[in-house]
Amino acid sequence: MMTGSVLLVMVVMVCFYVAVSTIIRQKKLSDIKSDFINNMTHELKTPISTIGLAVDMAVEKSSSMPGGEGVARYMDIIGTENRRLGVQVERVLQMAQMEKGNLELKRETVNVHDLIEKALNNLSVQLERRNGDLTLDYQASLEHVHGDPVHLTNVIYNLVDNAIKYSPDTLKLGIGTENQENGIAISVSDSGIGLSKEQITRIFENFYRVPTGNRHDVKGFGLGLSYVKKIVEAHGGRVSVRSKKGEGSTFTVWLPLMGDNPLHI
Ligand code: ADP
Repeated sequence: MMTGSVLLVMVVMVCFYVAVSTIIRQKKLSDIKSDFINNMTHELKTPISTIGLAVDMAVEKSSSMPGGEGVARYMDIIGTENRRLGVQVERVLQMAQMEKGNLELKRETVNVHDLIEKALNNLSVQLERRNGDLTLDYQASLEHVHGDPVHLTNVIYNLVDNAIKYSPDTLKLGIGTENQENGIAISVSDSGIGLSKEQITRIFENFYRVPTGNRHDVKGFGLGLSYVKKIVEAHGGRVSVRSKKGEGSTFTVWLPLMGDNPLHI
């Protein structure tokens, strides 16, 4: 009896030790990963902003040069791609900061319909290029929430950007708002490639992308939706998705109306 008990206690203690040391090791690894991403993205931001400034200067100089329009066109492309790179780097940096729990959100009164307009404005080039069908259906009469306008605009931007990216044929985009349970529901729907049930359970994970074999025509890091989820939840809201493979998807973000919704990550 005695030997049995001692053995059992020892086995339990060994298991406990292994479990605790694994947790500590994983925490250390995750800290190292976050620090690395932090440092790397900061290092990348400096050259990106220098390139941006140089491009602006070059555009200005080329306007007074003979044949300058050609140069200005190339500079425009460099500038656009540089900004895109900057946005991607910023996104990775924000995810790393969120994981460390030190992302600061600025809380103010924001009008959800204005946020949607702003996000659509930022995406106007993509929308024009795709020449799609856009339906706006603003039904919410109470449209103010307490939140961070920059991050909430990014949330809507990411959802609309995805709807455009994952609608390879014709683009049919619908954006609507509705007041529901003391909050406002913002829905973004498309008639794109859609998602299977199994994929829906994973799309909000960091770095998850639906496998597309060897096709790399749609670019991304798999960070957009996990960012959306984190920001929405930090505002006391939630995000849900309805989708069917081949038939399109509807992403709905619900945010509480102005009131007690403490911001935390
Ligand atoms: P990504 O940068 O890859 O777009 P996201 O986190 O925004 O990353 O999305 C994760 C994955 O979810 C995408 O790679 C895509 O496969 C899928 N997805 C997201 N939005 C849609 C959508 N509207 N329709 C179909 N699939 C989508």
